[in-house]
Amino acid sequence: MEAANAPVSVLADAPAPDAGQVHYSPSQLSTWSKCPRRWMYRYTLGLRLPPGAAAAVGKAVHEPQGKHFNEIIAGRDGLDTRAYVAAAADAFEREAADVDWAAEAGDGDNRALDRGSSLDRATLMARHYREAVAPTVGTPLLAEQGIELAVPGTEWSLLCYPDVVARQDGEVVVRDTKTAGKAPDGIKSGSPTPKREHALQLVAYRLAVQSFMGTVPGRLLLDYVWISARKGGPAQPNSVPVVVPAADDDVSLLLEDIDLMHRQIQAGLFPRKRTEMTCSPRWCGYWSRCIGPGRGRDL
Ligand code: SF4
Repeated sequence: MEAANAPVSVLADAPAPDAGQVHYSPSQLSTWSKCPRRWMYRYTLGLRLPPGAAAAVGKAVHEPQGKHFNEIIAGRDGLDTRAYVAAAADAFEREAADVDWAAEAGDGDNRALDRGSSLDRATLMARHYREAVAPTVGTPLLAEQGIELAVPGTEWSLLCYPDVVARQDGEVVVRDTKTAGKAPDGIKSGSPTPKREHALQLVAYRLAVQSFMGTVPGRLLLDYVWISARKGGPAQPNSVPVVVPAADDDVSLLLEDIDLMHRQIQAGLFPRKRTEMTCSPRWCGYWSRCIGPGRGRDL
């Protein structure tokens, strides 16, 4: 696999992963890592699960981001805070229509995940992103740009959508935003660390941007945005940029892993991963199909 020579194309409207073509995304690799059988239900059988409350909040923060930076790339001003928050609320309501709110609120641990408080969280985070994070991005070059990367020597391509690529302090920086229910690990000690699946996603974006722009990005950043609230106190939006260190070896390992995943998919090998923490009726929407009612246990 010659990563540096990978041909690349930009997709105006990228095909859905279950449209029958062999292309993979970093999120597919993440799903596969959690459970190959879960990947099969989603991508081979095309069984989409309804979004959860967290997905609706994430959608709300992300959707205006692309509009904002693409406006700036086109030479205009971008969205002001009011327009940004309004676009976030619209995006939330569209996604929220598909959320099973009764299921979201049905668990004692999730009492805060009703529709109204989720909308509040979404708009608070979107406002915070627009006012505190977006101004630090530098000069945007690409936003929500689909890049399809055909990797020589393989039968598949890699499909990437980096949130924003910008020129900042003389270097190309790839930034991706993650909304979270809590602060990233390490925040108290002053050394926040990215989730591994998020870091892998940035490694893929590094390769895609390198092939598309002809230059290796100088920095990969994850912008974590979350809400913290002391008991009885007001909800407080927060964010932190976390650097993802990545080298050529990380790219090679990623491509090898995707190729191994591809070969198992071609061979029809989709083992259950019952050691996965989310393998339970509560957290895996495929449980009743995969394990069966009255069969197996939440290990
Ligand atoms: S129930 Fe468990 S083994 Fe089955 S798809 Fe879900 S996570 Fe995988």
